Amino acid sequence: NLLRTAHYLKSVHELHQLPPDDSREVAIAGRSNAGKSSAINAICDQNGLARTSKTPGRTQQLVYFQVAPQRYLVDLPGYGYAKVPPGLRDHWRGLIEAYFRTRASLQGLMVVMDVRHPLRDFDRQMLEYGTARGLACHCLLTKADKLPRGQAARALQETRRAVAPGVAVQLFSATSHQGVDEARATLTGWLAL
Ligand code: GDP
Repeated sequence: NLLRTAHYLKSVHELHQLPPDDSREVAIAGRSNAGKSSAINAICDQNGLARTSKTPGRTQQLVYFQVAPQRYLVDLPGYGYAKVPPGLRDHWRGLIEAYFRTRASLQGLMVVMDVRHPLRDFDRQMLEYGTARGLACHCLLTKADKLPRGQAARALQETRRAVAPGVAVQLFSATSHQGVDEARATLTGWLAL
């Protein structure tokens, strides 16, 4: 597992704090509680890498994990709408929009969604940012272990039908490790590891 070397590099609140834009990186997005931190930990095979409990203040940052020289995973904050004051939300939106628009190093977008309620507004917005600039997009339907097999398969089919052509969708579980290898393969491919 080439992603096992991932380690925390820095948290970015403002665009000027981004690492030099001459690298390869992938963005991982998800609503609060979707299971994004657990997914990152499972994919990188490191329990404590991404924190699994968050405070609203901490969710307004892009968190950079370095995998290799000039190879990064970027944990994009999700937000709990209810908890975030409007000013912070506007700041977040501006930061994320500018990041997607301008970041040349960005190779792909992974969107982590709870298999029981995929493609909420947040997820659609993220996929819109990604597809708008022609990025490769890959969705994880996580917590697949929480559904009977047939229901999970149905959610997969329905989500595949609902996303734009070319957007990949897979089942995933940080608990059972279903789909972890597939997600890893996508990320290592994007990063050219
Ligand atoms: P985040 O806010 O998106 O980073 O979500 P977390 O990774 O912190 O997960 C939110 C909650 O869902 C936690 O209680 C996790 O233990 C749980 N969870 C995350 N992934 C899975 C999974 O694949 N299966 C199950 N059963 N629970 C999960």
